[in-house]
Amino acid sequence: MKFRIPVAEPSIGKRELELVTEAVESGWVSSKGKFTVEFEEKFAKYVGVKYGVAASNGTAALHLALVSLGVGSGDEVIVPTLTFASVANVIIYTGARPVFIDSHPDYWCIDPDEIEHKITERTKAIMPVHLYGHPCNVEAIMRLAKDHDLYVIEDCAEAHGAEYDGKKVGSFGDIACFSFYGNKIITTGEGGMCLANDEYLAEKIKMLRDQGMRSEKRYWHEIVGFNYRMTNLQAALGVAQLERIDEFVGRKRETAEEYNSLLKGIEGVTLPPQMSWAKNVYWLYSVLIDNNGYGIDRDELVQKLAEKGVETRCFFYPMHIMPPYKRYAVNRRFPIAEKLSSSGINLPSSVNLTEEEVHEVAHLISDFHQE
Ligand SMILES: *Cc1c(COP(=O)(O)O)cnc(C)c1O
Repeated sequence: MKFRIPVAEPSIGKRELELVTEAVESGWVSSKGKFTVEFEEKFAKYVGVKYGVAASNGTAALHLALVSLGVGSGDEVIVPTLTFASVANVIIYTGARPVFIDSHPDYWCIDPDEIEHKITERTKAIMPVHLYGHPCNVEAIMRLAKDHDLYVIEDCAEAHGAEYDGKKVGSFGDIACFSFYGNKIITTGEGGMCLANDEYLAEKIKMLRDQGMRSEKRYWHEIVGFNYRMTNLQAALGVAQLERIDEFVGRKRETAEEYNSLLKGIEGVTLPPQMSWAKNVYWLYSVLIDNNGYGIDRDELVQKLAEKGVETRCFFYPMHIMPPYKRYAVNRRFPIAEKLSSSGINLPSSVNLTEEEVHEVAHLISDFHQE
């Protein structure tokens, strides 16, 4: 079904077409070619990290991060339960166990106070996720990691340009992973990237991405790797998108302000978080619907908006209730994540969204409340 107002669609312009055409015409259509390296260098610089290694998608980037840090069978990796499933999947690919953590009620990301109780001698890493564009509590997580000698892999797939205390997310952990899927803040179609400040680690990620082959000794394989490369065509799109990232982030934040001013004060609607330390980039502008206060429940609202041609998304299901992941969370409770998951909704957030469309969506939401 095609919606009149989609939840998130990319903005692809002339410059994108120009660079992709250049890449096609150059004949360098696989991963070799100038755009891949250019995109890696420019994106790493944008975030403020030394090295970038592009990957075929965000999930591949997360998988490379874990393998490069030696995470494997018998290890435990701490992740939020309320996130996209690829975070749990990559842990399971390595043979390690995901250890799910509840959300913080004020900002919806992983709750650092809950992490402390779940650290064991098997814990290898923490993978915090900056959910829907709002940074997690980076400082608390980095402190825990330091105290317990754990790696931190930041999942920044939803938070390009977001900041914690004035510093971009992705610049704190040992490795940061980004996604450039079509609905993310910038896109390469499919695509991802690992960022790291450690040169040795960046080289290892690159080797793992390229079948475990040594870059200076062709067909000599040092380790068992993957083919997780990004193509030059994807990277050309990425270079063009990166030129507009400030504009995109600015648009997302303007849209959020607009929504906030129109939706505040509606009973039963909770606006998205904005902690004092956070620059939220509102990848998807998100609110909570309390069905008692609001009058109709979240699913009914989604349905009613769809009838008007407005696409929305419900929040992710928490990992611990789904078939492949349940067994990692036996006898545990995650009340905050469950509450967020059943009441959260992502509203249309494309950078192309017009002010009129924001008004229309907000007015529909306030009208349904009054019915
Ligand atoms: C989109 C996303 C990913 C995965 O990215 P893909 O490029 O789709 O593989 C990982 N983590 C989170 C939180 C995401 O939103």
